[in-house]
Amino acid sequence: MKQISDDKKREIIKALEEHGANYPCPRCGNKSFALLGGYLSQTVQNDLDSIAIGGLSIPSIVVVCKKCGFLCQHSLGALGLLPSEEVASE
Ligand SMILES: [Zn+2]
Repeated sequence: MKQISDDKKREIIKALEEHGANYPCPRCGNKSFALLGGYLSQTVQNDLDSIAIGGLSIPSIVVVCKKCGFLCQHSLGALGLLPSEEVASE
């Protein structure tokens, strides 16, 4: 799998800092994190009886605590990192 480019990672980290996402890990208090090399796109489900594929989703990036592995997900739309037509679908 192709990883997120270093330039894009710097853009994401800058956006996280600008949005105040710079507190220590909420689980263990560690201050060292890694940015996952790819995106997550979680599907929003209307019910629990079926799985809808290709519907509404939340594109996000993941920050991983280097000590305990806690995963922090941040919506790309909320960080201003999506093209405008994709933000409208969130
Ligand atoms: Zn942690």
